[in-house]
Amino acid sequence: MKILVINCGSSSLKYQLIDSETEEWLAKGLCERIGIDGRIVYTPAGGEKEIKESPMPDHTNAIKLVLEYLTNDKTGVLKSLDEIGAVGHRIVHGGEKFASSVVINDEVIKAIEECNDLAPLHNPANLIGIDACRKLMPTTPMVAVFDTAFHQTMPEKAYLYGLPNSYYEKYKIRRYGFHGTSHSYVSKRCADVLGKKYEDLKIIVCHLGNGASVSAVKNGKCVDTSMGLTPLEGLIMGTRSGDLDPAILEFIAKKENLDITGVMNILNKKSGVYGMSGELSSDFRDLEDAHNAGNKLATQALEAFCYRTAKYVGAYVAAMNGVDAICFTAGIGENAGIVRSMVCEYLGYLGITVDEEKNKIRGEEVIFSTPDSKVKTLIIPTNEELAIARETVALVK
Ligand code: AMP
Repeated sequence: MKILVINCGSSSLKYQLIDSETEEWLAKGLCERIGIDGRIVYTPAGGEKEIKESPMPDHTNAIKLVLEYLTNDKTGVLKSLDEIGAVGHRIVHGGEKFASSVVINDEVIKAIEECNDLAPLHNPANLIGIDACRKLMPTTPMVAVFDTAFHQTMPEKAYLYGLPNSYYEKYKIRRYGFHGTSHSYVSKRCADVLGKKYEDLKIIVCHLGNGASVSAVKNGKCVDTSMGLTPLEGLIMGTRSGDLDPAILEFIAKKENLDITGVMNILNKKSGVYGMSGELSSDFRDLEDAHNAGNKLATQALEAFCYRTAKYVGAYVAAMNGVDAICFTAGIGENAGIVRSMVCEYLGYLGITVDEEKNKIRGEEVIFSTPDSKVKTLIIPTNEELAIARETVALVK
């Protein structure tokens, strides 16, 4: 079956067409600047990447254009839209309502709308994507795959904050966690690569990308994760602060004469390694170059990022009373050997030894700990689109 995977943002839309039998992508790309002017990027498997400025007043127009590219005579990969067996939509927040993926119907749409409060920037955009696809492919089944669903197995002690209980009761303020599709995919692949049963393992997944989170997966279930009510908590990220003393918010507001929106903007967009490095860059390639060239702030940012990650790993070893494997994934986790090395240096007490030659490998599944290492460390490239396609097929077949 051919599955169209859609990841819709407020002014952009990523898409991938996947053959569920071979699990290969047939075409992929993105639409950018939707509602502003419009630009489509389209790459058919084995073909050249095409980039074209094209007016996209709204998301329906953007998806219409994607469908035209997929079916066009020259570079299209489909004869007709009937070949698309189902559409899988990435949805950021499923609240407590969704602990797994679901086939989309009117009731599901209403329930997703009810989670809008929890992800005001993301969920409304995801819903626009669903609406646009339903208009253009009214008879094609659609599935919603939630970023939060995998973490719904966390126990209360992990998801409740030290706040008045009435806030949980009234507003559902709690830890939800994000990147769930990635944490689920990577932890399962880890078991496969190790040749062990998923249900028998204690796995820590470090999803280190521009957004970054760690999760603890015990016997096939997530028991804790570093992101919280929103994706701002936890690790130091590209531009997000991660964990802070909450009193800092008031302190910054007073000193810089900012309202709460202004402070949140600083924490989301001007902080993380970008802010720590003196606004040098949020990209680890730039930070690594600057660190090698002796830039002190870049070194500090890198060291703080790795230290925070190692602290979370340590916390999750305690949460699971042990660990069998630690996985690194996403842009930084898959590519930045220096980050993996620096994190693992803190973990010698677990009996981890790194094979530095294997740690040079990029973007491939590999066990980069030595064979005698008590805990295995792995690089597992994430593939959220494939995970969404798999969930979609499982529900519509
Ligand atoms: P993601 O959010 O998973 O797409 O990750 C994006 C981030 O990965 C970028 O901002 C970079 O910091 C990082 N990244 C990508 N490629 C490399 C690389 N070759 N070396 C180091 N970091 C990289």
